[in-house]
Amino acid sequence: MIRLININKYYETGGEKVHAVRNLSVDFPDTGLCFILGPSGSGKSTLLNLLGGLDTPDSGEIWIEDREIKSLSRKERINYLNSYLGFVFQEYNILKDLSLKENIILPLQIQGYSRREINKRFNQIIEDVDLKGLEKRKVSQLSGGQKQRIAIARSLIKEPSLIIADEPTGNLDSETGHNIFNIFKKLSKDRLVIIVTHDEESALEFADMIIRISPDGDSLQKVNENE
Ligand code: ADP
Repeated sequence: MIRLININKYYETGGEKVHAVRNLSVDFPDTGLCFILGPSGSGKSTLLNLLGGLDTPDSGEIWIEDREIKSLSRKERINYLNSYLGFVFQEYNILKDLSLKENIILPLQIQGYSRREINKRFNQIIEDVDLKGLEKRKVSQLSGGQKQRIAIARSLIKEPSLIIADEPTGNLDSETGHNIFNIFKKLSKDRLVIIVTHDEESALEFADMIIRISPDGDSLQKVNENE
């Protein structure tokens, strides 16, 4: 479904060239929970941006279904971002003046979905992410873990095949983080979930697959664990 072939990405700042992603090849499964581990600066966020279509590699190929990403037109790429992919960030990125429900349904409202379809998906999703009963709350009345579950629900409501999460538990205590990983685990039964984290212990507990970026940044290796 998603295949990376010999991906390289360089950045040039102030005359210095940084080799941010080094010759990485990975075949991702259609469903399951995949963690990306590695020290700060090893290229993890760059890799997520490439997978998310937010940036393009300097060399190599990214295949999504049966299309290479460079061959997509601008319109097709936007469509990919809108329908195929959901993003979750460390800082939740939710709007504090909106209610829990308004935050979650925003992507569908922007795309003009019917109220009936929006309500149907919303009611299912708040059960999936354990937010039932909190629908009318203002975001300011919610905990960090609840805010992150809103962000996950908002990424889910478009029913994407892929969810990408960048340090989604970085601002949470370990018990709350554990709950969030449990939710991602459940969601990964029906879709692919790719998570960057520093939480090695949780990755080992929850992962179907781990991509480990070596500490010296000199090479990228893929290790399958648990399965
Ligand atoms: P990680 O997410 O593992 O911390 P990043 O992907 O953010 O690593 O960064 C990988 C390398 O690329 C680092 O050396 C970083 O300084 C560099 N880098 C990342 N983004 C940029 C950018 N926009 N311009 C220049 N260098 C960058």
